[in-house]
Amino acid sequence: MRILVAGGDGFCGWPTALHLSKRGHEVAIADSLIRRKWDEELGTQSLTPIASLEERVAAWREASGKSIPVYIGDLMSYEFVEHMFKEFQPDAIVHFAEQRSAPYSMIDREHAVFTQMNNVVGNLNVLYAIKDITPDCHLIKLGTMGEYGTPNIDIEEGYIKIQHKGREDVLPYPKQPFSFYHLSKVHDSHNIMFACKSWGIRATDLNQGVVYGLWTEETRQAEALYNRVDYDGVFGTALNRFCIQAATGHPLTVYGKGGQTRAFLDIRDTVQCIELAALHPAEPGEFRVFNQFTEQFSVLELAERVQRVAAERFSLQAEIAHLPNPRVEKEEHYYHAVHTKLLDLGLQPHLLSDDLIADLIETATRYRDRVDFDVIAPSSTWR
Ligand code: NAD
Repeated sequence: MRILVAGGDGFCGWPTALHLSKRGHEVAIADSLIRRKWDEELGTQSLTPIASLEERVAAWREASGKSIPVYIGDLMSYEFVEHMFKEFQPDAIVHFAEQRSAPYSMIDREHAVFTQMNNVVGNLNVLYAIKDITPDCHLIKLGTMGEYGTPNIDIEEGYIKIQHKGREDVLPYPKQPFSFYHLSKVHDSHNIMFACKSWGIRATDLNQGVVYGLWTEETRQAEALYNRVDYDGVFGTALNRFCIQAATGHPLTVYGKGGQTRAFLDIRDTVQCIELAALHPAEPGEFRVFNQFTEQFSVLELAERVQRVAAERFSLQAEIAHLPNPRVEKEEHYYHAVHTKLLDLGLQPHLLSDDLIADLIETATRYRDRVDFDVIAPSSTWR
């Protein structure tokens, strides 16, 4: 298949592009490289050293013999999107290219407005390009489990059957997002659903959990293929952040009680899920929703697990610090989300193992000199 990976220079996009290329698909990457600029803005950097996108694709050509053409540009520019669709003629577009940090979206008005413009406008341009240039192209869009919030009932995969005053319908599952970032994903979902209904395009919304790990078979092959991994208070996510904190002697930063339960998956499962979605496209006019995760954990449970592995495998005594919670969220709640559709398509999950945690701690130990303690504490607040 011809697959365009938008956001292919990012944490999920880069390993996905390599995985799809390795599996024999014709892959192109689109990226504005803005993620690298956010590092500069926040005074941080990936724990692992990452090569430029140009060096990355050159290293991949050398390692695999396969070329990945690159389109550098902003999805907010329709001229750019139109040119790329006309030239590459994708069978599928995997759309990762958004501002993905909830804390970044909550810094102030400018960052909230930027996040929603970047995400909603970019996605709308992609929808129009599909409609006008490649109407059969399957949109595989990254959403988030955070769109649903934490309702006191089971979370279904996109839709729920409701009985009301003697009548029944299957309706979109209610959304109670956590931040202006998560809200941008809800707006995207609505726009995609409407476009599927109105124009007959095909789309899969992947409501992804928090992704942990960084290595895939392909990204380990050469230093220029290494994936990025974030540890700072704005872009660093639970588990990856805890492992890096344990390795560097920083307390593990749990916000509030730590009973916040979320859905998680290994980056090796992200790349698998994307290929499964591409190989089994939605029907024309169908807006399909998959909950893309493999397990759920509370934040404290993860911190305690990292603490145990750090002690058992490395004799490191990691301390857990309960920081005042910068977010407005429930710290103890019911959480149970359905996630069977990707398993039905053949997903073989990599469940969280002590070995994976140890591998992350080892990686962080190798690059501990790149860690700046000043950027670890949460710097934006919801209130
Ligand atoms: P990332 O920030 O590492 O990568 C996103 C990439 O998109 C970056 O390379 C950035 O330069 C590019 N980009 C952003 N806006 C763009 C624009 N307007 N035009 C062109 N390129 C643009 O993020 P990630 O962690 O790889 O996440 C990828 C997607 O998956 C996001 O949509 C995110 O919301 C979703 N997601 C991620 C996680 C996670 O744990 N990382 C969890 C759930 C959902």
